[in-house]
Amino acid sequence: MSSFRGETRPAAAGFPADSVSDEDYPPLDGPYQNRTYGRALSRERVEGFWRRTAALVRRGAAPPDVGLYAHWPFCPCACGYCYCDFRVPGSSREAASYLAALERELESFRGALRGLALRSVMVAGGTPTSASPGQLDALLRRARSCFEVRPDADISVEASPGTLSAGHLEVFRRHGVGRLDLGVDSLDPKVLAAAGRRGQTAAVAAAACRLVLSAGVRLDVGLLCGLPGQSAASFLKDVRWALGLRPAGLRLYRFDPRPQTDFSREGARLAPGWAAGTARCMEEADAVVTAAGYGPQAGGWRVPASVLGVGWGAKSRAFGAGWYQHPNLERRPAPGPGMPPFRGMPLTLEDEARAFVIGGLATAGRVGGEAFREMFGTDLGAYAPLSAALRSLEARGAVSFDGEGLRLLEKGRGALQRLYHPGVLKLLARSGPSAGTASQTLCRVYERCDCPHSRLVAGEEA
Ligand code: SF4
Repeated sequence: MSSFRGETRPAAAGFPADSVSDEDYPPLDGPYQNRTYGRALSRERVEGFWRRTAALVRRGAAPPDVGLYAHWPFCPCACGYCYCDFRVPGSSREAASYLAALERELESFRGALRGLALRSVMVAGGTPTSASPGQLDALLRRARSCFEVRPDADISVEASPGTLSAGHLEVFRRHGVGRLDLGVDSLDPKVLAAAGRRGQTAAVAAAACRLVLSAGVRLDVGLLCGLPGQSAASFLKDVRWALGLRPAGLRLYRFDPRPQTDFSREGARLAPGWAAGTARCMEEADAVVTAAGYGPQAGGWRVPASVLGVGWGAKSRAFGAGWYQHPNLERRPAPGPGMPPFRGMPLTLEDEARAFVIGGLATAGRVGGEAFREMFGTDLGAYAPLSAALRSLEARGAVSFDGEGLRLLEKGRGALQRLYHPGVLKLLARSGPSAGTASQTLCRVYERCDCPHSRLVAGEEA
């Protein structure tokens, strides 16, 4: 068990509903599933989502950008800083039974994506390379047999240095895996020991990188900054080590003590000054990385417009039709060989457009005009459901249109809520202070909502 006790972090507290994070405007994006929300959906309903997306794609109303995401939750150890939905398996039988369930789920969606060819496939977790080469071979074979995969599809797998073997690389070569996302995180023995991360040394990590590079697979290395017990010098040393290997991509993350981490579960706290120190360290690292000829965040999974997610904790999005997820395992064993339940909400193209604009402004501070046009077939400024709200935000100087799209000028709470669906705003106004983190509130709001939008959530579409 890792232990971070003795460091300090502001205690989680209740907060007013108007402080919810714009980043969490549903449907949440990204491959990692940290929260479970939405109403129960039947398997048939979910299939209906995919039929609708296929119809939208056929008539050019939705992008033909469809990906498959398979979640492999198992890891050899529990890293105290990790917020992914992972589990250390109790026995090898558990992973075998999970693989059988994954294959069954893939099989059950055979035909549901008719007319949609996969542009990307990602196996992530957890640690997919904690599965044996034979298990990953079976998974990738099943995926290819159930769905049409474009010849130029981006196929990628997440790995950790201590689990990757030459046998895995041979399987990846056979299945056209073009990118390996190697989570090195840190090379500092003290940091790794404090976090409970086992089986990784600098020598092991270097050997794993060389293995990937010699196989001709694109290597993306991930490192973490601001970990408990980590100094700026230690992180910058890791960055220089990674640059020495010349990976195709180097991604630097800030430690994020979300409630799902052991760090937070154990009640640990970050030291005063942590945020400022980590920001300075990231700036310094970005300068080093840029000087070495890398883009600031090269590499990584590009989330497709539509994603079919399989396995516990996986999220799915059938563009313009529905968003759903399988619940997280939350460290429990996967219950039996059956299909995990579906929870989620139907989506309209308008919902997609709102989430696209709010998410883009909240996370990147901008929304590309060209990207919006490609996705929704119209100019953002002329998009009727949002135009009044955008004009009002522009008039108060909160956003501005330039040649490239929309930029966020005013940061802070509530700036983007004018873009929220009116039903969501109504519910937020009613919900009052709520315990928990900002990122969880909006999810709960969606579960309880009885506004017109939530009737969509509950499946009472006109
Ligand atoms: S950091 Fe990687 S190896 Fe560690 S628990 Fe998370 S997913 Fe597993």
